[in-house]
Parts: sequence; structure tokens; C-alpha cells
Amino acid sequence: MAALTNDGARTRVPLLAGNWKMNLDHLQAIAFVQKLAWSLKDARHDFASAEVAVFPPFTDIRSVQTLISADRLPLKFGAQDISAHDSGAYTGEISGAFLKALDCTYVIIGHSERRTLHNESDEQVAAKVTAAVKHGLVPVVCVGETAEDLEEHGPSAVPVAQLRVALAGLQAGTDVVVAYEPVWAIGSGQAATPEQAEQVAAALRSVVAELLGDETAAETRILYGGSVKANNIAGFMRQANVDGALVGGASLDVTEFSGIVRFQKHVGT
Ligand code: PEP
Repeated sequence: MAALTNDGARTRVPLLAGNWKMNLDHLQAIAFVQKLAWSLKDARHDFASAEVAVFPPFTDIRSVQTLISADRLPLKFGAQDISAHDSGAYTGEISGAFLKALDCTYVIIGHSERRTLHNESDEQVAAKVTAAVKHGLVPVVCVGETAEDLEEHGPSAVPVAQLRVALAGLQAGTDVVVAYEPVWAIGSGQAATPEQAEQVAAALRSVVAELLGDETAAETRILYGGSVKANNIAGFMRQANVDGALVGGASLDVTEFSGIVRFQKHVGT
């Protein structure tokens, strides 16, 4: 199940994912994706050894899709949320069918900002995960504890409980990405330590094994998110159960995000 074998080889392709949140309009998105692609090309980034995905606002997705497809850029993209419903009277919501039609690969579900600002429950997160899978999208399921949870229950209890509900409706073999994002680390500049991230990532992988079987657990990528920067990514990527990062603020700076994507330069694996 380890991401790193004894000789340091990786068994899962890492995913470096940039969550833009409500930043960059569609014109800024085009300029950003072009710059990111050039920067990684200049650096001869090997996309087969570290996958890169951006998560723009809904209104940018068509522009990003057109650019990536026209220029055949080796970047993936996804949405920041999805409706649990397929279609109908749900003003303001976006169906997974629409996201799939725009070639989205991924969709972020249950980000702490949605759980907090939009009161999304674990059950709603689970319904969205089911909808994503139904429409052929890979859910990036976010879980994480607040500072109060950490003090009261320790680091793993809340993310483990959240993940159990989120994955309950899935079958073995489902392609899902889990993002462990301690709420206290998001946007705070105070990242978890690599050891803290590894401890929770290992517990989350056990949940995947319990619900979806060992084989799926061995293939599932578990990301760390929370104040990841180019200068701290290496520590996370050295952990056996951490397979990449979900990056907020630093994903809006091409140089910084490229540095994160090119973590192998710092890790040496
Ligand atoms: C996030 O919002 O998912 C996140 C990890 O943000 P930041 O990298 O800015 O902490």
C-alpha cells in the first residue's frame, strides 16, 4: 500500500491539484494556463510521473477546456463543486453531466469552505460523490478536522468519520481521490507536519480498504492540503501514504505552483 517502495519508486502517480477557488475570470484563466504549461514545458516536466490538474471557477471551464484541447496541453482540469442532482429545478446548481460534457476529469467535493459556508453535511457530500461517479467524474473528496476537533478528538477521528460517510455508496474499484485538509492549515500559512499528514493519510487509506477493499486502497491517491508551498512540498511527498497535494493560494502563482509540481527536484525520488 505504500506510495514509495523500499527503493524509493512510486506505486501511484502523484497528483498536484490547484484549487483556484473564486479567483481568475475566464480571460485570466486562459493566460494562467498558458503560462503554467510553458513554465512546465521549459522545465521539461514529466507529466507521466506527476499529474497536474487545475480547478477553475465554473465560468472558466469552457475556456480552459478549449485551450487545453486546442494546444494539446498535458494538463487535467476539474470543477470545484457538483450538484447531487442530474437536472431540473435547482437554480444555481451545476450537473455532473454538464461537467463531463466539458471534459472535466475531476470534481472537488466537500471542501471545508463548502462544509462551513454552505453547511454541507456528510450526507450531502456523499450524494455528490455518488453523482460524480455516476457521470464518469473522479471525485476529489475533501475531509479534515478543525482546530477544535483536533484538540477534542485528535487528528484522525473527524476525517475518518467524514470519509466513511462520503464513500459509503461506492463500489470496489471506483477511482476516487481523497484530500486530507486540516481546516486549521487551510490558508493559515501553518501547514501540518509531514508526519501529521502521514498519520492521517494512513488512517484514511485504512478506511478505503475497509469500504472498497485492499486493491482499491492501494490504488487510491491521498493528497495533503493546507498551506502547501514549493518550499514544503518535499516533506509531504516523502511520506508513504501522501500521493500529492491539493493547493489553494499557492496554485494562483505560476512560479510557486510549478515549484510544487516539480517536487521531485526537491525530493530526489
Ligand atoms: C485549499 O483551500 O484547499 C487549500 C489547501 O488552501 P491553501 O493551500 O491556501 O491552504
